Amino acid sequence: MRPAANLKPVTYRCPFCEEHLPALMEHVLVLPEGDTRRRRHAHTECALAEKRAGRMPSYDQWLAAQPQRTGRFSRLFAKSRAR
Ligand SMILES: [Zn+2]
Repeated sequence: MRPAANLKPVTYRCPFCEEHLPALMEHVLVLPEGDTRRRRHAHTECALAEKRAGRMPSYDQWLAAQPQRTGRFSRLFAKSRAR
């Protein structure tokens, strides 16, 4: 067993509204079809609104809109995308 990720005091960033998303807050994981490694944390309301509007972005579209970042997660993504 290992602790659930959302018990850690980490903060994600919602891909839809660009606001911070404390992990302790209720939220959802956005799973682009066919690639669960690209899951993102988003506000529940934001994800539902996007889904209703029929414009849930793909991870690539979302990534292209992000500022350049360095860090553990972006390196992990870069690694998985290089395959
Ligand atoms: Zn949001």
